[in-house]
Amino acid sequence: MSKIVRALSADGSVLCSAVDSTDAVRRLHEIHGTSATASAAAGRLITAASLMGAMMKNENDRLTVRISGGGPIGNITAVADHMGNVKCSIDNPFADLPPNGAGKLDVAGVVGTDGYLTVIRDLGMKEPYAGQIPIISGEIAEDITQYYAVSEQIPTVCALGVLVDTDLSIKCAGGYLIQLVPPINEAAIDVIEKNIGKMQSVTHMLTENMTPEQIALEGLAGLDGEILDEWEAGYFCNCSRERTERILAALGKSELERLAEEQPETELCCHFCGKKYRFSSDEIKTLIQTI
Ligand SMILES: [Zn+2]
Repeated sequence: MSKIVRALSADGSVLCSAVDSTDAVRRLHEIHGTSATASAAAGRLITAASLMGAMMKNENDRLTVRISGGGPIGNITAVADHMGNVKCSIDNPFADLPPNGAGKLDVAGVVGTDGYLTVIRDLGMKEPYAGQIPIISGEIAEDITQYYAVSEQIPTVCALGVLVDTDLSIKCAGGYLIQLVPPINEAAIDVIEKNIGKMQSVTHMLTENMTPEQIALEGLAGLDGEILDEWEAGYFCNCSRERTERILAALGKSELERLAEEQPETELCCHFCGKKYRFSSDEIKTLIQTI
């Protein structure tokens, strides 16, 4: 399981959440068979979604983060619940590129920079709230930071990291999000900027066996940060046969009749966890009766 921690500065003006998402990214790699660069890209996105989801209040709240940059990986969509449990779908999980000029996995190259980062919050209202910004870097953390600044007007620092081994297994993954809570304390901004300047990369900190607690408190160094709460989250898909039936039913009678005629069995595969659901043509015919 991934561990999520939230810490608050003593004056209540800065919130820092941190997550060790290694297990969730390992599961993502296992399900989707991602290339090294795709593991880094999608792993960063689910880590961000987990931190962002964990800030929602209610049990049924859902947060979707989608990055569509026109690169070889296509769209990556991460969905999180209010506990920071995440699932992810990837158009082309095998997409890969040679390392970039800095010798790192070319996340921006595989994601692309010609497109949008979209965040949809479904808070159980009539309409979900959606915000969208043009991608500025494609490296994901910078895009999340920009999203908060532009779309939600919340000054935020986001750092994300996924370390992929030469055999494509995931060594470690995690991230942190530092946010200013209104009313903004200008003095705290200076402290945070200094802290960020001093902090090592997320994967470096995790490799040094730093815990999410230590990372969150390091983000709040000099501000007497205290841990608010901590809990475990993971890669979690809530698909079921019933949900799959509803998706099928949405195709409409004539399409279902065609499926029942043309093939003895219809198979639907969940884009998030790879689970397969099979329906015989008799079952499809029964489903038609319920529409
Ligand atoms: Zn599923």
